Amino acid sequence: TYHGKIIEGRAVWANPNAVATNDSTTRAFIAHCKKANINLIVLLVKFSDTRLFYHSKKFPQSIAAQFKDFDPLAAVIREAHRNGIRVHAWVCSFTESADGPVMQQHPEWAVRNPEGKIPTETEYLSGGRKYYINWMCPARRPGYTDQWLIPMIEEIVTDYDVDGIHHDYVRYPGDVAPDSYCFCDYCLDQMLKYAHFYYETFPDSFFALTPTLPNLIANWWSDPTVKPMGWERWDRKQKAQFLLKGSFIRGGPADLDYFFYTYRQDAINRFVREAWEHASAIKPDIEFSAAVFKNPITSGRFIGQRWTDFSPWIDMMMPMVYRSHFPPGDFDTFLRQLAEYTRYEYKWAKNRTHLEIGLDVTYIYNEERFFIRDALAALDSIPSASVGRRQQFIENIRDRYARIQSHLAQISPQLEQELTKLLSRFTPESIQQNARLREIIKGLQTHPPDDYYPKEKLRRAIATVREAGANGIIFFEAGQITQKNLWPVLEQAFPTPSIDPDQVGSASEMSIVTLKALRRRVEAMKRQRNLLILAIVIIAVGMAIIWRKKKTL
Ligand SMILES: [Zn+2]
Repeated sequence: TYHGKIIEGRAVWANPNAVATNDSTTRAFIAHCKKANINLIVLLVKFSDTRLFYHSKKFPQSIAAQFKDFDPLAAVIREAHRNGIRVHAWVCSFTESADGPVMQQHPEWAVRNPEGKIPTETEYLSGGRKYYINWMCPARRPGYTDQWLIPMIEEIVTDYDVDGIHHDYVRYPGDVAPDSYCFCDYCLDQMLKYAHFYYETFPDSFFALTPTLPNLIANWWSDPTVKPMGWERWDRKQKAQFLLKGSFIRGGPADLDYFFYTYRQDAINRFVREAWEHASAIKPDIEFSAAVFKNPITSGRFIGQRWTDFSPWIDMMMPMVYRSHFPPGDFDTFLRQLAEYTRYEYKWAKNRTHLEIGLDVTYIYNEERFFIRDALAALDSIPSASVGRRQQFIENIRDRYARIQSHLAQISPQLEQELTKLLSRFTPESIQQNARLREIIKGLQTHPPDDYYPKEKLRRAIATVREAGANGIIFFEAGQITQKNLWPVLEQAFPTPSIDPDQVGSASEMSIVTLKALRRRVEAMKRQRNLLILAIVIIAVGMAIIWRKKKTL
């Protein structure tokens, strides 16, 4: 049984490659959603690598090959609406593949570092892997935002009966250095105007600080010119250096990076606002939701995603409170961290937006996943490894196994006994006898026994979020829910249909504009009621007087 609030927002992120490849898989997926009383499907339509999962007329070159003959967005909307489920089109905002149509036609739209390089030219990920996608400059106009992304959103809202648009990757890159982007020509020019670092009316004048107060930086309000003399002759690297390390006040602290980071936040805020303006001009009641990092304060600093700022143009904020975004630890530690973070989300979102807490069904199963992953990797590597290294691999597999063994014994005692026996006989010298071991582990990967991924874990994660005060959850993602056989958990968590989630927003979820309007309406209704009571009293008294007069006559 669940305690806490009734969860009214019940959503799933869904990748059509996993759930909507043709009419029959689409129908099966929607049937699952219907049975689990899901009320919102967030369907991927623009992937982070350029490909589109809908039949675009404006960008036909980007339609994914596997969806040339089947439009998953149209099919999901049709089937979902037939079952009373809303659909948001999920758009990965600012990412494009290294060799896609955008990079071929408009390389100038990409973000630049102080050397003028784009991410795929310079950046690396862990393990020496080369960075694989490019980020487009969110600020640049004209650029990717107004020439590509917003026209795409307009097309989706015009051509499809979507209930909303879902922003993802609505930020600057997070896995490369946050102080590297963006120093494109547009941003170098615009950053000075953004915080009014000089008078456009007097572009060549330098207004010096007027120090009237003894504390130098206490004179900030006297509006000194910040743009250095000769700026136009500086190269990109010098300008970037100044914007990151320079001082607002000459001789004062090196604080210009503050403006650099707020510039990035406001570039993202502007896109979210403009997306709403354009989409709502076509469809006035269009909804917006957004997948965001779990901490708006730190993500504001590091990826320009201070989502508390762009909440006026978002109906449902969906912070990704994934286990992978917490320090490594066991599942119980994660649940306690999850509870704390859920409370923080509501504190941050208060009087700003409705929240649906983003729960993952991938990383909560790290124990089960890592056993398979590490065991297969070890079996691959052991034959060519030294004896000492083999011993390490074997110990690692046994350690991983220890974390899932007791659960495996409950759900499949035979399998557990065989696996335990095979692992105990597993020695650095026994590498030829591992065929059966590999077969079993491969089997766990492709056809896991029911509840290999314990339903209890997801149940506890839902209960944790609920007890911490959440009234909305979105699950990442539908394909994994099916693969791990977790729909029964959702069916149990949501046994009855929700009432319309738009109608349940508590006062703390409304923006103060909405809240004030509502209060005014309540006051007006009270006044009307009071007037009505007054009128009834006057009529009653009048009738009583007339009646008495009649009587005395
Ligand atoms: Zn830029």
